[in-house]
Amino acid sequence: MELADVRRHIRDRDALARALRDVLGPGRVFAHPADLLAYEYDGSVLQAVPDLVVFPQSTEDVVAIVRVASRFGAPLVPRGSGTGLSGGAIAPVGGIVVSMSQMRRILSIDLENRCAVVEPGVVNLDVTRAVERDGYFYAPDPSSQSACSIGGNVANNSGGVHTLAYGVTTNHVLGLEMVLPDGTVVQLGGRGPDDPALDLVGLVVGSEGTLGIVTKVTVRLMRRREAVRTMLGIFPSIEDASQAVADIIASGIGPTSLEMLDQLTVEAVEPAVHAGLPPDAGAVLLIEVEGVREMLDRSAQIVEDLCRRNRAREIRVARTEEERALYWAARKGAFGAMGRLAPNYYLHDAVVPRSRLPQIMRQVMEIADRYGIRVANVFHAGDGNLHPLIPYDAATPGETERVMRASEEMLAACVAVGGTLSGEHGIGFEKNNYMPWIFSEADLEAQRRLKTAFDPEDRMNPFKVFPTPVSCGELLTRRPPRLAASGLWI
Ligand SMILES: Cc1cc2nc3c(=O)[nH]c(=O)nc-3n(C[C@H](O)[C@H](O)[C@H](O)COP(=O)(O)OP(=O)(O)OC[C@H]3O[C@@H](n4cnc5c(N)ncnc54)[C@H](O)[C@@H]3O)c2cc1C
Repeated sequence: MELADVRRHIRDRDALARALRDVLGPGRVFAHPADLLAYEYDGSVLQAVPDLVVFPQSTEDVVAIVRVASRFGAPLVPRGSGTGLSGGAIAPVGGIVVSMSQMRRILSIDLENRCAVVEPGVVNLDVTRAVERDGYFYAPDPSSQSACSIGGNVANNSGGVHTLAYGVTTNHVLGLEMVLPDGTVVQLGGRGPDDPALDLVGLVVGSEGTLGIVTKVTVRLMRRREAVRTMLGIFPSIEDASQAVADIIASGIGPTSLEMLDQLTVEAVEPAVHAGLPPDAGAVLLIEVEGVREMLDRSAQIVEDLCRRNRAREIRVARTEEERALYWAARKGAFGAMGRLAPNYYLHDAVVPRSRLPQIMRQVMEIADRYGIRVANVFHAGDGNLHPLIPYDAATPGETERVMRASEEMLAACVAVGGTLSGEHGIGFEKNNYMPWIFSEADLEAQRRLKTAFDPEDRMNPFKVFPTPVSCGELLTRRPPRLAASGLWI
Protein backbone atom coordinates (compact mmCIF):
# COMPACT_ATOMS: atom_id res chain seq x y z
CA MET A 1 0.00 0.00 0.00
CA GLU A 2 1.23 3.51 -0.85
CA LEU A 3 0.55 6.66 1.08
CA ALA A 4 -1.42 8.03 -1.88
CA ASP A 5 -3.86 5.15 -1.25
CA VAL A 6 -4.40 6.08 2.38
CA ARG A 7 -4.71 9.84 1.95
CA ARG A 8 -8.30 10.65 2.83
CA HIS A 9 -8.96 13.05 0.03
CA ILE A 10 -11.10 15.88 1.22
CA ARG A 11 -14.17 16.03 -0.96
CA ASP A 12 -13.94 19.73 -1.78
CA ARG A 13 -10.84 21.36 -0.36
CA ASP A 14 -11.70 24.83 -1.71
CA ALA A 15 -15.18 24.73 -0.20
CA LEU A 16 -13.69 23.55 3.10
CA ALA A 17 -11.19 26.42 3.06
CA ARG A 18 -14.02 28.87 2.36
CA ALA A 19 -16.13 27.48 5.21
CA LEU A 20 -13.18 27.77 7.61
CA ARG A 21 -12.46 31.34 6.47
CA ASP A 22 -16.12 32.17 7.12
CA VAL A 23 -15.72 31.26 10.78
CA LEU A 24 -12.09 32.35 11.40
CA GLY A 25 -11.50 35.20 8.96
CA PRO A 26 -9.17 35.16 5.94
CA GLY A 27 -5.73 35.43 7.62
CA ARG A 28 -6.19 32.36 9.81
CA VAL A 29 -6.57 29.67 7.14
CA PHE A 30 -3.51 28.62 5.12
CA ALA A 31 -4.14 26.82 1.83
CA HIS A 32 -1.24 27.86 -0.41
CA PRO A 33 1.37 25.06 -0.92
CA ALA A 34 4.23 27.39 0.10
CA ASP A 35 2.50 28.10 3.44
CA LEU A 36 1.59 24.46 4.01
CA LEU A 37 5.19 23.28 3.60
CA ALA A 38 6.12 24.82 6.96
CA TYR A 39 3.72 22.33 8.59
CA GLU A 40 4.95 19.15 6.88
CA TYR A 41 7.57 18.39 9.51
CA ASP A 42 7.97 17.87 13.27
CA GLY A 43 11.59 16.73 13.48
CA SER A 44 10.77 13.09 12.74
CA VAL A 45 12.10 11.28 9.70
CA LEU A 46 8.98 11.64 7.54
CA GLN A 47 7.33 14.71 6.08
CA ALA A 48 3.67 15.04 5.01
CA VAL A 49 1.96 18.16 3.75
CA PRO A 50 -1.51 18.89 5.19
CA ASP A 51 -4.44 20.07 3.05
CA LEU A 52 -5.00 23.17 5.19
CA VAL A 53 -3.62 24.82 8.32
CA VAL A 54 -5.86 26.84 10.66
CA PHE A 55 -5.09 29.12 13.59
CA PRO A 56 -7.75 29.27 16.34
CA GLN A 57 -7.49 31.98 18.99
CA SER A 58 -10.10 30.67 21.43
CA THR A 59 -12.02 27.57 22.49
CA GLU A 60 -14.96 28.88 20.43
CA ASP A 61 -12.73 28.98 17.32
CA VAL A 62 -11.67 25.37 17.96
CA VAL A 63 -15.33 24.32 18.29
CA ALA A 64 -16.15 26.07 15.00
CA ILE A 65 -13.21 24.40 13.21
CA VAL A 66 -14.15 20.96 14.52
CA ARG A 67 -17.78 21.39 13.41
CA VAL A 68 -16.79 22.51 9.90
CA ALA A 69 -14.30 19.61 9.66
CA SER A 70 -17.03 17.22 10.71
CA ARG A 71 -19.31 18.44 7.88
CA PHE A 72 -16.57 17.73 5.34
CA GLY A 73 -15.36 14.49 6.96
CA ALA A 74 -11.87 16.03 7.23
CA PRO A 75 -9.17 14.63 9.56
CA LEU A 76 -7.83 17.01 12.23
CA VAL A 77 -4.24 17.13 13.44
CA PRO A 78 -3.61 19.31 16.51
CA ARG A 79 -0.19 20.93 16.48
CA GLY A 80 1.77 22.80 19.12
CA SER A 81 5.30 23.92 18.24
CA GLY A 82 6.09 20.97 15.96
CA THR A 83 9.08 19.72 17.98
CA GLY A 84 7.56 16.31 18.72
CA LEU A 85 10.11 14.19 16.80
CA SER A 86 7.77 11.22 16.22
CA GLY A 87 5.52 12.33 13.37
CA GLY A 88 2.64 13.08 15.77
CA ALA A 89 1.98 16.59 14.50
CA ILE A 90 2.14 15.87 10.77
CA ALA A 91 -0.73 14.79 8.53
CA PRO A 92 0.21 11.54 6.74
CA VAL A 93 -3.37 10.97 5.60
CA GLY A 94 -3.96 14.66 4.87
CA GLY A 95 -6.50 16.90 6.57
CA ILE A 96 -6.48 20.08 8.62
CA VAL A 97 -3.55 20.91 10.88
CA VAL A 98 -4.90 22.93 13.83
CA SER A 99 -2.01 25.09 14.97
CA MET A 100 -2.38 26.17 18.60
CA SER A 101 0.32 28.81 18.24
CA GLN A 102 -2.14 31.72 18.61
CA MET A 103 -3.62 30.36 21.86
CA ARG A 104 -0.69 31.27 24.09
CA ARG A 105 -2.09 33.23 27.03
CA ILE A 106 -1.42 32.47 30.66
CA LEU A 107 -4.99 32.91 31.90
CA SER A 108 -4.47 32.86 35.67
CA ILE A 109 -1.83 32.17 38.29
CA ASP A 110 -2.83 31.06 41.78
CA LEU A 111 0.33 30.85 43.89
CA GLU A 112 -1.58 30.16 47.08
CA ASN A 113 -2.95 26.97 45.58
CA ARG A 114 0.13 26.41 43.44
CA CYS A 115 -1.49 26.19 40.06
CA ALA A 116 -1.92 28.13 36.82
CA VAL A 117 -4.40 27.92 33.96
CA VAL A 118 -2.77 28.28 30.55
CA GLU A 119 -3.72 27.99 26.91
CA PRO A 120 -2.16 25.05 25.08
CA GLY A 121 0.08 27.13 22.82
CA VAL A 122 1.98 28.62 25.78
CA VAL A 123 5.66 27.75 25.51
CA ASN A 124 6.78 25.50 28.36
CA LEU A 125 9.52 27.79 29.67
CA ASP A 126 7.16 30.79 29.75
CA VAL A 127 5.19 29.17 32.59
CA THR A 128 8.29 29.06 34.77
CA ARG A 129 9.30 32.56 33.66
CA ALA A 130 5.92 33.87 34.81
CA VAL A 131 6.38 32.60 38.39
CA GLU A 132 10.11 32.28 39.02
CA ARG A 133 10.45 35.68 40.68
CA ASP A 134 8.14 34.36 43.39
CA GLY A 135 10.26 31.23 43.84
CA TYR A 136 8.05 28.83 41.87
CA PHE A 137 8.52 26.77 38.71
CA TYR A 138 6.75 24.37 36.37
CA ALA A 139 8.62 21.10 36.81
CA PRO A 140 8.46 19.19 33.47
CA ASP A 141 11.38 20.68 31.54
CA PRO A 142 12.04 19.02 28.18
CA SER A 143 15.32 20.04 26.55
CA SER A 144 13.09 21.73 23.97
CA GLN A 145 11.39 23.81 26.69
CA SER A 146 12.19 27.14 25.08
CA ALA A 147 10.12 26.11 22.03
CA CYS A 148 7.67 23.29 22.82
CA SER A 149 4.10 24.02 23.91
CA ILE A 150 2.19 22.93 26.98
CA GLY A 151 -0.44 21.33 24.69
CA GLY A 152 2.28 19.25 23.00
CA ASN A 153 3.69 18.34 26.42
CA VAL A 154 0.25 17.18 27.56
CA ALA A 155 -0.33 15.16 24.39
CA ASN A 156 3.08 13.46 24.59
CA ASN A 157 3.22 13.24 28.39
CA SER A 158 6.62 14.84 28.08
CA GLY A 159 9.43 14.51 30.54
CA GLY A 160 12.60 16.47 30.96
CA VAL A 161 15.99 16.68 32.52
CA HIS A 162 14.48 16.77 36.03
CA THR A 163 11.96 13.95 35.49
CA LEU A 164 14.06 11.73 37.72
CA ALA A 165 12.99 13.76 40.74
CA TYR A 166 9.74 15.41 39.71
CA GLY A 167 8.04 12.99 37.31
CA VAL A 168 6.54 13.64 33.88
CA THR A 169 3.73 15.89 32.64
CA THR A 170 0.94 13.68 33.93
CA ASN A 171 2.18 14.34 37.48
CA HIS A 172 1.78 18.10 36.93
CA VAL A 173 -1.56 18.47 35.15
CA LEU A 174 -4.58 18.97 37.39
CA GLY A 175 -7.27 19.80 34.85
CA LEU A 176 -7.99 20.12 31.15
CA GLU A 177 -10.52 21.68 28.84
CA MET A 178 -10.89 19.71 25.61
CA VAL A 179 -12.96 19.97 22.44
CA LEU A 180 -14.23 16.58 21.34
CA PRO A 181 -14.37 15.64 17.64
CA ASP A 182 -18.11 16.49 17.52
CA GLY A 183 -17.52 19.99 18.93
CA THR A 184 -18.56 19.28 22.52
CA VAL A 185 -16.43 21.11 25.12
CA VAL A 186 -15.59 19.06 28.22
CA GLN A 187 -13.90 20.01 31.49
CA LEU A 188 -11.73 17.22 32.94
CA GLY A 189 -10.18 17.18 36.40
CA GLY A 190 -10.00 20.41 38.37
CA ARG A 191 -7.60 22.30 40.61
CA GLY A 192 -7.27 19.79 43.40
CA PRO A 193 -4.94 16.81 43.60
CA ASP A 194 -7.68 14.20 43.38
CA ASP A 195 -10.85 14.52 41.32
CA PRO A 196 -13.73 12.23 42.33
CA ALA A 197 -14.62 11.46 38.68
CA LEU A 198 -12.99 8.90 36.38
CA ASP A 199 -9.40 9.95 35.77
CA LEU A 200 -9.91 11.27 32.25
CA VAL A 201 -7.05 13.74 32.71
CA GLY A 202 -4.79 10.73 33.11
CA LEU A 203 -6.28 9.25 29.94
CA VAL A 204 -5.90 12.39 27.83
CA VAL A 205 -2.35 13.14 28.97
CA GLY A 206 -0.23 11.04 26.62
CA SER A 207 -3.04 10.38 24.11
CA GLU A 208 -1.13 12.30 21.41
CA GLY A 209 -4.03 14.35 20.09
CA THR A 210 -6.08 11.27 19.19
CA LEU A 211 -9.04 12.00 21.49
CA GLY A 212 -9.68 15.72 21.09
CA ILE A 213 -8.07 19.16 21.01
CA VAL A 214 -6.92 20.48 24.39
CA THR A 215 -7.83 24.15 24.79
CA LYS A 216 -6.92 24.89 28.44
CA VAL A 217 -4.54 23.25 30.89
CA THR A 218 -4.41 23.67 34.68
CA VAL A 219 -0.81 22.98 35.66
CA ARG A 220 0.70 22.39 39.07
CA LEU A 221 3.38 24.85 40.20
CA MET A 222 6.21 23.88 42.52
CA ARG A 223 8.34 25.78 45.03
CA ARG A 224 12.05 26.01 44.22
CA ARG A 225 14.33 24.11 46.56
CA GLU A 226 16.72 26.17 48.64
CA ALA A 227 19.95 25.20 46.91
CA VAL A 228 21.28 23.25 43.93
CA ARG A 229 24.65 21.70 43.10
CA THR A 230 25.51 20.90 39.46
CA MET A 231 28.42 18.61 38.62
CA LEU A 232 30.10 17.10 35.58
CA GLY A 233 31.69 13.66 35.79
CA ILE A 234 34.23 12.94 33.04
CA PHE A 235 34.47 9.20 32.29
CA PRO A 236 36.66 7.05 30.05
CA SER A 237 33.65 5.14 28.65
CA ILE A 238 29.86 5.20 28.48
CA GLU A 239 29.74 1.85 30.29
CA ASP A 240 31.61 3.33 33.27
CA ALA A 241 29.30 6.35 33.31
CA SER A 242 26.25 4.05 33.07
CA GLN A 243 27.47 2.02 36.04
CA ALA A 244 27.98 5.26 38.00
CA VAL A 245 24.34 6.15 37.25
CA ALA A 246 23.17 2.81 38.64
CA ASP A 247 25.35 3.26 41.76
CA ILE A 248 24.23 6.86 42.42
CA ILE A 249 20.58 5.81 42.23
CA ALA A 250 21.23 2.83 44.49
CA SER A 251 22.92 5.08 47.08
CA GLY A 252 19.56 6.69 47.88
CA ILE A 253 20.74 10.31 47.78
CA GLY A 254 18.03 11.11 45.22
CA PRO A 255 19.69 13.25 42.55
CA THR A 256 17.34 15.46 40.52
CA SER A 257 19.18 14.92 37.20
CA LEU A 258 21.52 12.34 35.70
CA GLU A 259 22.11 13.22 32.06
CA MET A 260 24.58 11.46 29.74
CA LEU A 261 26.53 12.80 26.79
CA ASP A 262 28.83 10.42 24.92
CA GLN A 263 31.98 11.24 22.98
CA LEU A 264 30.29 11.85 19.61
CA THR A 265 27.79 14.17 21.28
CA VAL A 266 30.63 16.11 22.91
CA GLU A 267 32.32 16.34 19.49
CA ALA A 268 29.18 17.98 18.07
CA VAL A 269 28.16 20.16 20.99
CA GLU A 270 31.43 21.57 22.32
CA PRO A 271 32.26 23.71 19.23
CA ALA A 272 28.70 25.08 19.41
CA VAL A 273 28.42 25.80 23.15
CA HIS A 274 32.03 26.08 24.45
CA ALA A 275 31.23 24.55 27.83
CA GLY A 276 34.78 23.18 28.18
CA LEU A 277 33.76 19.52 27.69
CA PRO A 278 36.92 17.46 26.99
CA PRO A 279 36.83 16.03 23.44
CA ASP A 280 38.68 12.86 24.49
CA ALA A 281 36.16 11.91 27.22
CA GLY A 282 34.33 8.65 26.56
CA ALA A 283 31.27 10.08 28.31
CA VAL A 284 30.23 13.08 30.36
CA LEU A 285 27.63 12.76 33.10
CA LEU A 286 25.74 15.89 34.16
CA ILE A 287 24.55 15.42 37.73
CA GLU A 288 22.38 17.70 39.80
CA VAL A 289 21.34 17.48 43.44
CA GLU A 290 18.93 19.85 45.17
CA GLY A 291 17.75 20.43 48.71
CA VAL A 292 18.57 22.38 51.83
CA ARG A 293 21.99 24.00 51.65
CA GLU A 294 23.53 22.06 54.55
CA MET A 295 22.93 18.67 52.98
CA LEU A 296 24.42 19.41 49.54
CA ASP A 297 28.10 19.02 50.51
CA ARG A 298 27.41 15.51 51.77
CA SER A 299 25.35 14.55 48.68
CA ALA A 300 28.00 15.96 46.35
CA GLN A 301 30.72 14.00 48.15
CA ILE A 302 28.78 10.74 47.75
CA VAL A 303 28.29 11.47 44.03
CA GLU A 304 31.98 12.22 43.61
CA ASP A 305 33.06 9.02 45.42
CA LEU A 306 30.75 6.89 43.29
CA CYS A 307 31.93 8.51 40.07
CA ARG A 308 35.59 7.99 41.01
CA ARG A 309 34.88 4.37 41.94
CA ASN A 310 33.65 3.99 38.36
CA ARG A 311 36.88 5.44 36.91
CA ALA A 312 35.79 9.07 36.50
CA ARG A 313 38.99 10.97 35.83
CA GLU A 314 37.61 14.35 36.85
CA ILE A 315 34.61 15.85 38.67
CA ARG A 316 33.76 19.49 38.05
CA VAL A 317 31.35 21.50 40.17
CA ALA A 318 29.65 24.58 38.71
CA ARG A 319 30.85 27.51 40.83
CA THR A 320 28.52 30.15 39.45
CA GLU A 321 25.01 30.33 37.98
CA GLU A 322 26.64 31.16 34.61
CA GLU A 323 28.75 28.01 34.73
CA ARG A 324 25.70 25.94 35.64
CA ALA A 325 23.78 27.48 32.71
CA LEU A 326 26.66 26.60 30.39
CA TYR A 327 26.65 22.94 31.45
CA TRP A 328 22.91 22.85 30.84
CA ALA A 329 23.29 24.62 27.49
CA ALA A 330 25.60 21.78 26.42
CA ARG A 331 22.99 19.20 27.38
CA LYS A 332 19.95 21.03 26.04
CA GLY A 333 21.70 22.17 22.85
CA ALA A 334 22.96 18.68 22.01
CA PHE A 335 20.31 17.69 19.43
CA GLY A 336 20.55 21.05 17.71
CA ALA A 337 24.32 20.70 17.41
CA MET A 338 24.01 17.40 15.56
CA GLY A 339 23.69 19.27 12.26
CA ARG A 340 27.49 19.59 12.51
CA LEU A 341 27.83 15.82 12.05
CA ALA A 342 25.52 15.14 9.10
CA PRO A 343 22.60 16.68 7.19
CA ASN A 344 20.02 14.29 8.72
CA TYR A 345 19.56 12.43 11.95
CA TYR A 346 17.22 9.79 13.26
CA LEU A 347 16.62 10.19 16.96
CA HIS A 348 15.22 7.41 19.11
CA ASP A 349 13.44 7.54 22.41
CA ALA A 350 13.34 4.19 24.15
CA VAL A 351 13.33 3.24 27.81
CA VAL A 352 15.10 0.36 29.51
CA PRO A 353 15.22 -0.68 33.17
CA ARG A 354 18.10 1.39 34.58
CA SER A 355 19.99 -1.71 35.66
CA ARG A 356 20.23 -2.72 31.98
CA LEU A 357 21.85 0.54 30.85
CA PRO A 358 25.46 -0.75 30.61
CA GLN A 359 24.28 -3.82 28.66
CA ILE A 360 22.05 -1.90 26.26
CA MET A 361 24.73 0.72 25.57
CA ARG A 362 27.08 -2.09 24.50
CA GLN A 363 24.35 -3.58 22.28
CA VAL A 364 23.53 -0.23 20.65
CA MET A 365 27.20 0.31 19.78
CA GLU A 366 27.53 -3.28 18.50
CA ILE A 367 24.49 -2.78 16.20
CA ALA A 368 25.94 0.53 14.97
CA ASP A 369 29.29 -1.14 14.18
CA ARG A 370 27.59 -3.97 12.33
CA TYR A 371 25.67 -1.51 10.14
CA GLY A 372 28.68 0.78 9.68
CA ILE A 373 26.88 3.80 11.13
CA ARG A 374 27.72 6.25 13.90
CA VAL A 375 25.54 6.76 16.98
CA ALA A 376 25.56 9.71 19.34
CA ASN A 377 24.06 9.05 22.76
CA VAL A 378 22.65 11.92 24.77
CA PHE A 379 19.96 10.95 27.21
CA HIS A 380 18.16 10.94 30.54
CA ALA A 381 20.32 8.22 32.07
CA GLY A 382 18.67 8.44 35.47
CA ASP A 383 15.33 7.41 33.94
CA GLY A 384 16.81 4.74 31.66
CA ASN A 385 15.44 6.89 28.82
CA LEU A 386 17.82 6.42 25.88
CA HIS A 387 18.13 8.68 22.85
CA PRO A 388 20.44 6.91 20.39
CA LEU A 389 20.84 9.46 17.60
CA ILE A 390 22.03 8.32 14.19
CA PRO A 391 23.52 11.06 12.01
CA TYR A 392 23.24 10.23 8.30
CA ASP A 393 22.87 11.65 4.82
CA ALA A 394 19.50 10.82 3.26
CA ALA A 395 20.89 11.83 -0.15
CA THR A 396 23.28 8.84 -0.16
CA PRO A 397 21.54 5.90 -1.88
CA GLY A 398 20.68 3.10 0.54
CA GLU A 399 21.61 5.13 3.62
CA THR A 400 18.03 5.64 4.85
CA GLU A 401 17.29 1.90 4.58
CA ARG A 402 20.44 1.06 6.55
CA VAL A 403 19.57 3.56 9.27
CA MET A 404 15.99 2.29 9.50
CA ARG A 405 17.12 -1.34 9.83
CA ALA A 406 19.69 -0.50 12.49
CA SER A 407 17.13 1.62 14.33
CA GLU A 408 14.62 -1.20 14.37
CA GLU A 409 17.25 -3.54 15.87
CA MET A 410 18.11 -0.98 18.55
CA LEU A 411 14.47 -0.59 19.53
CA ALA A 412 13.99 -4.36 19.54
CA ALA A 413 17.03 -4.75 21.82
CA CYS A 414 15.51 -2.26 24.29
CA VAL A 415 12.19 -4.09 24.28
CA ALA A 416 13.97 -7.43 24.71
CA VAL A 417 15.51 -6.32 28.03
CA GLY A 418 12.11 -5.30 29.39
CA GLY A 419 12.08 -1.76 27.99
CA THR A 420 9.51 0.15 26.01
CA LEU A 421 9.15 2.15 22.78
CA SER A 422 9.00 5.72 24.03
CA GLY A 423 9.92 7.65 27.13
CA GLU A 424 8.66 11.06 26.12
CA HIS A 425 8.51 11.83 22.39
CA GLY A 426 5.41 9.74 21.85
CA ILE A 427 4.64 6.95 19.41
CA GLY A 428 3.22 9.20 16.69
CA PHE A 429 3.53 7.80 13.18
CA GLU A 430 7.11 6.61 13.63
CA LYS A 431 6.60 3.77 16.03
CA ASN A 432 2.89 2.92 15.82
CA ASN A 433 3.57 -0.30 13.94
CA TYR A 434 5.91 -1.47 16.72
CA MET A 435 3.09 -1.29 19.28
CA PRO A 436 2.33 -5.04 18.92
CA TRP A 437 5.87 -5.68 20.24
CA ILE A 438 4.76 -4.54 23.68
CA PHE A 439 0.96 -4.88 23.67
CA SER A 440 -1.19 -7.93 22.98
CA GLU A 441 -4.08 -7.69 20.50
CA ALA A 442 -6.44 -7.57 23.52
CA ASP A 443 -4.47 -4.66 25.05
CA LEU A 444 -4.55 -2.72 21.79
CA GLU A 445 -8.24 -3.48 21.26
CA ALA A 446 -9.10 -2.07 24.70
CA GLN A 447 -7.23 1.13 23.79
CA ARG A 448 -8.88 1.29 20.35
CA ARG A 449 -12.32 1.04 22.00
CA LEU A 450 -11.52 4.01 24.19
CA LYS A 451 -10.38 6.00 21.17
CA THR A 452 -13.62 5.08 19.36
CA ALA A 453 -15.71 6.26 22.33
CA PHE A 454 -14.19 9.73 21.93
CA ASP A 455 -13.75 9.72 18.17
CA PRO A 456 -16.13 7.27 16.45
CA GLU A 457 -15.25 8.49 12.92
CA ASP A 458 -11.48 8.28 13.52
CA ARG A 459 -10.85 11.84 12.41
CA MET A 460 -8.68 12.98 15.38
CA ASN A 461 -5.05 12.60 14.42
CA PRO A 462 -5.55 9.40 12.41
CA PHE A 463 -2.64 7.03 11.71
CA LYS A 464 -1.05 7.83 15.04
CA VAL A 465 -0.29 5.57 18.00
CA PHE A 466 -2.28 2.56 16.70
CA PRO A 467 -0.85 0.19 14.06
CA THR A 468 -1.67 1.18 10.47
CA PRO A 469 -1.62 -0.68 7.13
CA VAL A 470 1.51 1.16 6.08
CA SER A 471 4.39 2.16 8.35
CA CYS A 472 6.48 5.28 8.44
CA GLY A 473 9.62 3.23 7.72
CA GLU A 474 8.10 1.56 4.65
CA LEU A 475 7.08 4.91 3.21
CA LEU A 476 10.39 6.47 3.94
CA THR A 477 12.52 3.81 2.34
CA ARG A 478 10.23 3.20 -0.62
CA ARG A 479 9.89 6.76 -1.80
CA PRO A 480 11.75 10.04 -1.62
CA PRO A 481 10.61 11.73 1.58
CA ARG A 482 8.52 14.52 0.16
CA LEU A 483 4.85 14.92 -0.65
CA ALA A 484 3.18 17.43 -2.90
CA ALA A 485 0.30 19.42 -1.47
CA SER A 486 -1.97 17.24 -3.59
CA GLY A 487 -1.08 14.34 -1.34
CA LEU A 488 0.85 12.57 -4.11
CA TRP A 489 4.52 11.84 -3.92
CA ILE A 490 6.86 13.99 -5.96
C1 LIG B 1 15.87 19.57 20.61
C2 LIG B 1 14.73 18.77 21.18
C3 LIG B 1 14.81 18.30 22.49
C4 LIG B 1 13.75 17.59 23.05
N1 LIG B 1 13.84 17.17 24.34
C5 LIG B 1 12.79 16.57 24.93
C6 LIG B 1 12.84 16.18 26.31
O1 LIG B 1 13.84 16.38 27.00
N2 LIG B 1 11.74 15.60 26.83
C7 LIG B 1 10.61 15.38 26.08
O2 LIG B 1 9.64 14.85 26.62
N3 LIG B 1 10.55 15.71 24.79
C8 LIG B 1 11.59 16.30 24.19
N4 LIG B 1 11.52 16.65 22.88
C9 LIG B 1 10.31 16.31 22.11
C10 LIG B 1 9.21 17.40 22.10
O3 LIG B 1 9.76 18.69 22.29
C11 LIG B 1 8.13 17.12 23.14
O4 LIG B 1 7.48 15.92 22.84
C12 LIG B 1 7.08 18.24 23.22
O5 LIG B 1 6.14 17.96 24.22
C13 LIG B 1 6.34 18.48 21.92
O6 LIG B 1 5.66 19.70 22.04
P1 LIG B 1 5.19 20.51 20.75
O7 LIG B 1 4.46 21.72 21.20
O8 LIG B 1 6.32 20.75 19.83
O9 LIG B 1 4.17 19.46 20.13
P2 LIG B 1 3.96 19.03 18.63
O10 LIG B 1 5.18 18.39 18.08
O11 LIG B 1 3.40 20.15 17.86
O12 LIG B 1 2.85 17.92 18.83
C14 LIG B 1 3.13 16.75 19.55
C15 LIG B 1 1.84 15.95 19.72
O13 LIG B 1 0.93 16.71 20.49
C16 LIG B 1 -0.33 16.82 19.84
N5 LIG B 1 -0.88 18.11 20.28
C17 LIG B 1 -0.24 19.32 20.26
N6 LIG B 1 -1.04 20.26 20.78
C18 LIG B 1 -2.20 19.65 21.14
C19 LIG B 1 -3.43 20.09 21.71
N7 LIG B 1 -3.63 21.36 22.05
N8 LIG B 1 -4.40 19.18 21.92
C20 LIG B 1 -4.23 17.87 21.60
N9 LIG B 1 -3.09 17.41 21.05
C21 LIG B 1 -2.10 18.28 20.83
C22 LIG B 1 0.02 16.69 18.37
O14 LIG B 1 -1.08 16.26 17.61
C23 LIG B 1 1.13 15.67 18.41
O15 LIG B 1 0.57 14.38 18.47
C24 LIG B 1 12.58 17.33 22.28
C25 LIG B 1 12.51 17.81 20.97
C26 LIG B 1 13.55 18.51 20.42
C27 LIG B 1 13.43 19.01 19.00
